[in-house]
Amino acid sequence: MGRRLLLPHTRRLMLFLRPMRYSASATATATAGSLRDPLHVCVVGSGPAGFYTAEKMLKGREGVRVDIIDRLPTPFGLVRSGVAPDHPETKIVVNQFSRVAANPRCSFFGNVTLGSDLSLSELRKTYDVVVLAYGAESDRSFGIPGEDLRGIHSAREFVWWYNGHPDMCNLAPDLTNTDSAVVLGQGNVALDVARILLRCTTELASTDIADYALDALRSSTIRKVYLVGRRGPVQAACTAKELREILGLKNVNVYIKEADLATSPADKEEMRNSRIKRRVYELLSKAATVHQENNDNDRKELHFVFFRKPTKFLPSEDGSTVGAMELEKTLLKEMMEQLESRWQLELVSLKN
Ligand SMILES: Cc1cc2nc3c(=O)[nH]c(=O)nc-3n(C[C@H](O)[C@H](O)[C@H](O)COP(=O)(O)OP(=O)(O)OC[C@H]3O[C@@H](n4cnc5c(N)ncnc54)[C@H](O)[C@@H]3O)c2cc1C
Repeated sequence: MGRRLLLPHTRRLMLFLRPMRYSASATATATAGSLRDPLHVCVVGSGPAGFYTAEKMLKGREGVRVDIIDRLPTPFGLVRSGVAPDHPETKIVVNQFSRVAANPRCSFFGNVTLGSDLSLSELRKTYDVVVLAYGAESDRSFGIPGEDLRGIHSAREFVWWYNGHPDMCNLAPDLTNTDSAVVLGQGNVALDVARILLRCTTELASTDIADYALDALRSSTIRKVYLVGRRGPVQAACTAKELREILGLKNVNVYIKEADLATSPADKEEMRNSRIKRRVYELLSKAATVHQENNDNDRKELHFVFFRKPTKFLPSEDGSTVGAMELEKTLLKEMMEQLESRWQLELVSLKN
């Protein structure tokens, strides 16, 4: 990758760097008593944490000046590159952040990376308060064989890709050599990924999805998406609103094994204690019993796979990409004791 270009506003920030004005530099934990007015604050990261911090700082202390820096040229962090493009209502919060940025005592400096363009000690020397709000940009790995095979992407990479994040615009996920995609996880981000893969591209066209992603999705051959969870429907980590949305997608048949819907006393207890879990379970149960009559070839498939955990990714025949994965059957402890069941392996092919 080439060296990051410094834009004019970046240079402006560099010029601002000057010897410490005050005897006491401070981090976000400094007490107000050790600081002088007007306070000069640097917020690293322009996502929700950065902007809410800036807003509180600007409101909370008269005359305070806040500089927000971000490694990207554009602000708003994951609101821009995480929240799904077909959820514009969630992105409305950027209006509030834009009002904060428009405050004459607030400045945004894009293309400035803490750690390469600037060091923390430089920031500490320059500002009274430095707040680190740079999010969480790394992925957790499973630690299982085959995880580095081509065709396996973290949700962060895939989501950044369809949202046009500059770090992932060249990801080029292969959506044309298979009819199936497996999404590991059943939280809201997993649902976002599945929904983007399944949703009609005519609907996506009116969102702010990246143009190249829309083109790739238009030629996608993926017809089946498997959403795999280690535990059961009561423990699915999604919320009812997001679940209802994906279950109601046009042209998508939903498959849930009725046997997976059996509940234990512990499940019932969990549902009694959580309205969200109860609602999620009810929605899944309803989806399992609704038999879509329209079986034409144009319909895509969404499969909820419960009680399965990945143990290995296997290469395709020519070794060029992931070809299959091994899933281990799991049981919640209580059920396992009841059923005296043994672990068993199951293979799900990713290829046609
Ligand atoms: C796919 C996805 C969908 C989501 N959907 C929703 C949703 O619908 N509703 C909801 O409420 N929440 C949603 N979230 C969660 C929400 O986006 C995050 O909780 C929130 O963005 C975290 O805010 P943050 O400011 O801590 O981090 P971020 O939003 O990640 O912002 C961090 C910022 O710091 C910058 N940065 C990183 N390193 C450096 C550095 N070294 N120097 C300078 N800048 C740096 C980054 O460029 C980024 O702009 C979603 C998250 C994901 C991943």
